[in-house]
Amino acid sequence: MRWTLLTSVLLLVTDLALPDRLEQAAKNSAKIVDLTYPLSSRTPHWPGPNYSPFRYDKIADLEEDGVFSGKFCMPEHLGTHLDAPNHFEKGQPAVHQLSLEQLFAPAVVLDVTDRVRGNADFLLRLEDLRRWERAHGTIVPGALVFLYTGWGTRVSDSARYQNRDASGVMHFPGFSPEAARFLVNERNIKGLGIDTLSVDYGPSKNFQVHHIAHGAGKYHIENAANLDRLPPKGAFAIVAPIKIEGGSGGPVRVFALLP
Ligand SMILES: [Zn+2]
Repeated sequence: MRWTLLTSVLLLVTDLALPDRLEQAAKNSAKIVDLTYPLSSRTPHWPGPNYSPFRYDKIADLEEDGVFSGKFCMPEHLGTHLDAPNHFEKGQPAVHQLSLEQLFAPAVVLDVTDRVRGNADFLLRLEDLRRWERAHGTIVPGALVFLYTGWGTRVSDSARYQNRDASGVMHFPGFSPEAARFLVNERNIKGLGIDTLSVDYGPSKNFQVHHIAHGAGKYHIENAANLDRLPPKGAFAIVAPIKIEGGSGGPVRVFALLP
């Protein structure tokens, strides 16, 4: 009882700091981390049929036309992007239908970099979440939960980032279905985030985590950048996806306001 009260007071104090942080952001004195990679033809993409690299073409030149302008073409799920719940589940919201409230969330960061070294197929298990909660407290409702695997050190090399074996199977870490189920059902998170190509680990064939989270109306942020600069908790994420009508997701700009 006393512990619950203490936790509530602490949470209240953390929450009260948010308006100050937004005010600071407007005055250029906040610490803001950009969790987004720039898009270019070198951005790693999903090695599936019909997927293609980011493409940018100039359509007007400042010297010749008096104006600079370009056009781009890309799969929705390339670079730092958002998976809308309709990506894997019927009847769930498209990217333009996500409520604005879903896009503002306390950021939780699970650092598993030391576990991923030597085990590219690492899966975050329920016991890992329990351990995190013993150290940092219960994951707050409505959190955006990032798995920081350290995979971002490979992002400039598509082949190392996809990490395909001789038979073409990819190897990179991810959330286990049991961990996703716990976060969705027991912690009522707003979304999952990861610094790899997918919240499901590389060898996955049935994309169970996608089904679990999307089936509950939750979104994913994939290929998140700069997770090494976030604390385990206390940062606040602002998620701004492209608003494609009926889209299954798309490029997203994600910011984290540091405590
Ligand atoms: Zn995706």
